[in-house]
Parts: sequence; C-alpha cells; structure tokens
Amino acid sequence: MAFEGLSSKLQEAFRKLRGKGQITEADLRSTMREIRLALLDADVNFTVVRDFVKKVQAKAKGENVLEGLNPGQQIIKIVDDELTEMMGGETTTLKKSNKIPTIIMMAGLQGAGKTTTVGKLAKMLKEDDNARPLMIAADVYRPAAIEQLQQIGKQIDVPVFEEGTEVNPVKIVEDGLKVAKENHNDYVFIDTAGRLQIDEKLMNELKEIKEVAKPTDILLVVDAMTGQNAVNMAEGFNEALDITGVVLTKLDGDTRGGAALSIKAVTGKPILFTGQGEKMDNLDVFHPDRMASRILGMGDVLSLVEKTKKNIDEKKSMELAEKMKENTFNFDDFLDQLQQIQNMGPLKNLMAMIPGMANNPALQNVDMDPKDLDRIKAIIYSMTNEERENPDVLNPSRRRRIAKGSAQPIQSVNRLIKQFNQMKKMMNQISNGNMSGMENMMQQ
Ligand code: GDP
Repeated sequence: MAFEGLSSKLQEAFRKLRGKGQITEADLRSTMREIRLALLDADVNFTVVRDFVKKVQAKAKGENVLEGLNPGQQIIKIVDDELTEMMGGETTTLKKSNKIPTIIMMAGLQGAGKTTTVGKLAKMLKEDDNARPLMIAADVYRPAAIEQLQQIGKQIDVPVFEEGTEVNPVKIVEDGLKVAKENHNDYVFIDTAGRLQIDEKLMNELKEIKEVAKPTDILLVVDAMTGQNAVNMAEGFNEALDITGVVLTKLDGDTRGGAALSIKAVTGKPILFTGQGEKMDNLDVFHPDRMASRILGMGDVLSLVEKTKKNIDEKKSMELAEKMKENTFNFDDFLDQLQQIQNMGPLKNLMAMIPGMANNPALQNVDMDPKDLDRIKAIIYSMTNEERENPDVLNPSRRRRIAKGSAQPIQSVNRLIKQFNQMKKMMNQISNGNMSGMENMMQQ
C-alpha cells in the first residue's frame, strides 16, 4: 500500500511531540528533521521537500506554536495543511466543454496504464453522469492496444472507433471526432500511443493530435511505481503539450508515494485521479486534503462512506435488515454480503480509511485472499437450495457430501458453517438492540 512507510514515520515523529507538555525549539528542529527524512525516504523530490520544510517552519514560527496551547496538535495541523497544498490543495475535476463533445486526450509512456484508464474514466462518466462516451483508438504502434481497447469497450459497453494500424493517428482522430458528432456522443476519449521513452516523433504526433482535436483536457497517465521517473515524465510531457492534469496509476502497488506528493509542486499540474488496481472500477478521484489526512493517520471517513454508498446495494441492505429482524438470514445472503464487500476493493485499503487504523499492525492480517472467497463460494454452491435456506439441516453426512462436491476439506466446511452461525447470532443480537454480540464477535 502506498505511503505506508511515510505515514508511520510521520506519526512516529508526532507521537514524540504529543508526549511532551512543552516543546522547545530543539524539539521542533528535531521533528522537522524527521519529517524531512521521512519525505525523502518516500521518494519525494528533493527541492519539494526543502520548500515544504521551509514553509512548515515559517508557519510554526508565525503562529508562535511553541507558546501556544497544545503545540503538538498545532504542528500536525500545519503539516496537514501544507501536505494538502503540496498535492494541489483543491480537488480538480474534469472540465466540461460548452460544445459537445467534451474531448479528453490521454498521453503517457507505454505501459503507464493509458488504455486501462480510458476505460475506467469512460465507465465512471457513464455511471455517474449518464454520459455517452466514445473511445478513439489512436495507438497504432502497439497492435494489441486497439484490441485491448475494444475488449474494454465490450466489457463496459462503450463504443470504440478504430481504423486499424495502417492509418495515420491524426487522421484516425479526425474521423473519430466526426463519428462522435454524428452519433451525439457527449464525451470522447483519445487513447494515444506511448513509447518506452519520450522521443521527438512521439511528441510531434501528440502535438498534431492536440492541434486537430483541441481537447478540453489533456491527461497525462503516469505510473506511480516508477517514482521520481514519473515526476520527470510529467515534466517532459508538460513542457511539450501543456497538459491539464495527471492520472497517477498503480497506487495500489508497493510504491513509496513520492510521485503523488511531488507532481503538482514540480509541474504545477494537479493529479485528478489515481488508479488503484487493474479492474475497471479501480479509479478514485484524487482529493489532496483526504490523502493528506490519510497519510497522517487521521483516516478518510468521507471516502469510506462514498465507497460504501456506491458499492452496497441499498435495496439489498434493506432486505438484509428485514431478514435480520425476522432471523431468516441464510447462506445466500451470506454469499451476497461477501460479494458486496469484495466489490469495494481490498479490505486492507478500506480499513486504512478508518481514523487511527492506517498503521495498525492488525491490518497486516485482515486482507481476504480472493482465493479464500472462491473456496467459500465453492462450498456454498455445493449446497442444495434447501441447505442454503435452512442451514440447520446440515448434518455430518451432508457436510461430507458438500466437502466432496466443492473439493474442500471437511474442516473448511465445518468452519464456514460455524462462522455463518456466529454471524447469524450476532445479527440477531444487534437487531434486538444488544451490541455486546458485536463485541463478543470482535474478541474471537
Ligand atoms: P498503456 O500502454 O499505457 O495503454 O497501458 P495499459 O493500459 O495497457 O496498462 C499496462 C498494464 O498496467 C496493464 O497490465 C494494466 O492492467 C496495468 N494497470 C493499469 N492501471 C493500473 C493500476 O492502477 N493498478 C495496477 N495494479 N495495474 C494497472
């Protein structure tokens, strides 16, 4: 998970301050040194770190932190504000053109995640804004790119315009835009070619496409895993194309997060979205303030609430509440619950949004292996309808049959039934207003 190291180091630095009634100038200096090292270790650009530390120091002095009440808290607040500012301050969204269609041109190196991001963005607009996007396949150098975009198009049900690999990409864009106008598409995404390195030919082609398409936004897609290189790329592309914003992909990987913290400060261009996985739903709007508070271990309850709203089916939740009341919760509902939790992404990421949880060592163990879920599903699918609806009938011979049918050891079947019964009991207690059921469950 990104920022893990930075987050724990910053929190450690603040913990030392919190323990003190009064902070001396020397304490402040040592905290600032720890913050500086933590940022450098997280691969934040050197000059960005220097400026950051200067700003925090100046503010701390200006606000007379050392003489004020609760100096530790005041410093954390200053760092929080400055981290937010460093990542761009306000949340930046896609612009909407006055004329239809709104055109979004994508750029970036090969493998950064352009094609995937085009699909994710098209899906997001389609679902959230009822948009009717068209995706133009203008990457003619990587033959698989067109096919990849077509597959994504099928998956998210968004049309793709392509003319194969023999036509000049600028012409493809012109033709694609004509089709978009005829079909009244309100958004157009242009998936352009990438190279392994920035070169003149690529830049010229992108400039020509920009000239012809006059995009509303030019989004540069950069791979967070490449660290400082991502920042250099952003600078190079920005100089040539005057991009409007950045999508930082692969923030789900084992990155130190420095790119996220440096890009705005170095290029002056904001991050709009972050890629958090390979699936079409794994795209998040980038909120600098929420990210700062997540890094400082203060949680990100807003994002958690939004994610829950989007992924948990309201009607199903109502039905579940009803079932809890009537005590008719069965294995089909259990499966449904697991599925909904899985749709929200890795459990570990969700837990990290809860205040104080980001660096909790217990988080190391909460990730549910997708294979575990598959095993649970296999067991439940091997049950008859009667067994799923009325688990009380699951006697030893039925359990043996289910173990055989799902190719799982009998112990796993027994464990699942036990967990199910516990969950049912807990739900029953909660719906009867007895929260101690929940506490008992947590302690097990
Ligand atoms: P392009 O060459 O820039 O079009 O890159 P692709 O869209 O083909 O992506 C390259 C690889 O990165 C593919 O395997 C994607 O599935 C993967 N990828 C893209 N975005 C993300 C992300 O946010 N997280 C992870 N883990 N993988 C990603």
